Amino acid sequence: MPETLILGAGLTGLSCAYHLRRPHQLLEKEAEPGGVVRTHVRGDGFLCDGTGHWLHLRNPGMRALVEKLLPGQLIEYERKAVIHLQGKFTPFPFQANTAGLPAQTVLDCLLGLLQARHPEDFGRTAPSAPPRNFRESLERMFGEGICRHFMIPYNEKLLGVKLEEISTDYADRFIPKPSLEDVIKGALGFSRESLGYNAKFVYPREEGISALPKALARALPTPPRYQTSVTKIHLGSQTAVLASGEKVSFRHLLNTMPLVDFLRLVEDLSPKGREAAARLRAATVHYYDIGVRGQGTPRSHYHWVYFPEPDFIFYRVGSYSAVHPSAAPPGCRSYYVEMSGGVDPWLKKPAELQARVLQDLRKAEILSGGDEILFMELCRIPHAYVLFDPHYLTSRQIVEEELASHGVKIAGRWGGWNYGGMEDALLEGQAAAESWNSS
Ligand SMILES: Cc1cc2nc3c(=O)[nH]c(=O)nc-3n(C[C@H](O)[C@H](O)[C@H](O)COP(=O)(O)OP(=O)(O)OC[C@H]3O[C@@H](n4cnc5c(N)ncnc54)[C@H](O)[C@@H]3O)c2cc1C
Repeated sequence: MPETLILGAGLTGLSCAYHLRRPHQLLEKEAEPGGVVRTHVRGDGFLCDGTGHWLHLRNPGMRALVEKLLPGQLIEYERKAVIHLQGKFTPFPFQANTAGLPAQTVLDCLLGLLQARHPEDFGRTAPSAPPRNFRESLERMFGEGICRHFMIPYNEKLLGVKLEEISTDYADRFIPKPSLEDVIKGALGFSRESLGYNAKFVYPREEGISALPKALARALPTPPRYQTSVTKIHLGSQTAVLASGEKVSFRHLLNTMPLVDFLRLVEDLSPKGREAAARLRAATVHYYDIGVRGQGTPRSHYHWVYFPEPDFIFYRVGSYSAVHPSAAPPGCRSYYVEMSGGVDPWLKKPAELQARVLQDLRKAEILSGGDEILFMELCRIPHAYVLFDPHYLTSRQIVEEELASHGVKIAGRWGGWNYGGMEDALLEGQAAAESWNSS
């Protein structure tokens, strides 16, 4: 009987199975691999990836693995991403591209940054205590203007909470700090578009992003057990119960399904573990996949656009077909429109939500009046963005330690209750496998 169970055939679970050198079972509740990284064929041949899933491969080992799995299939793209603010489109990243915005906004951003970096020149004293929350971290890093115009409204729209509720760990780990030179050059119109981790990305030539998990699943010596849902876990007896009633014992288990859902399946979690589990929070994302027939607008070539302002219902709009034209049939285009917390009141009135989304897309000139809407499909990613609130690190650690004491590891963006992209998923799956290979 296999002693190692992997729960979930998303990229994390697949990568673990690929790198594991011992008998195991990979259990997946769906009929195919990929988890969130799955391409849906909609309408008359539109390939939609469950919002934009662009591959950023920084780790040489992972790049080599993905190239081996998809030989000659990866196309490299240069990011064409912009921010829509005050009626204008300015290149991403905002802090290094304010030229072209109204002069007062540029001044707010520049002066704010200088005041934050050199307070003594403005008759101010530098704060002696460390920042208390994400908002204060951002203000120290970017200054008042960049924060007021972009960082705060965008991140609050995305996470659906006030940034005072988010801890400084979030900022320290994920927000790149711009140099003064970048900000000044960007304010004066020198192009700074290529900054940031995602300036270039790769994407499969065919089949959408699902080409990657499918290739990984094909490369496994033992195929995943599809349509096999785990419904109960008993830590004490190290047993997983499947929807069929079958019981599978394990000595080692890797969980990659959303941690909060997994913990609900655990029958004998301690009261302390349950308390910690109840404190794990995440922001839900709703998104529309939209197929359009029409000529396009001058905005149609953007890969994605950030919308920090509250008068647009979405926080980001991207176009699958702008990156990869064969994602849509000839003469057509496709979009993903992402919405977070603010959309909740609208979910009970789907017709009004659709109308509002289309109205805002036309207002931003991403859609034109002549475009024919072929479909709008509303989808949900329940735990899309884990909230790094002040309880996050401790609560996660409590459950991780309790699970580990029964042979259960957690990994992946949702299984490990973290923040990470596809490459991180592959790396975390590999790390879990290697720790077992060497034990
Ligand atoms: C809005 C958004 C945009 C993103 N864009 C990018 C991007 O551009 N680039 C990038 O690199 N990353 C991106 N990501 C991150 C990427 O989606 C994740 O890093 C990756 O999908 C994590 O994979 P995973 O295997 O850990 O989790 P999942 O894909 O969630 O896999 C978990 C698996 O567990 C299975 N499962 C669940 N419950 C059970 C059960 N009871 N029994 C058996 N199986 C079960 C599920 O069906 C699923 O297959 C984005 C994420 C979001 C939310």
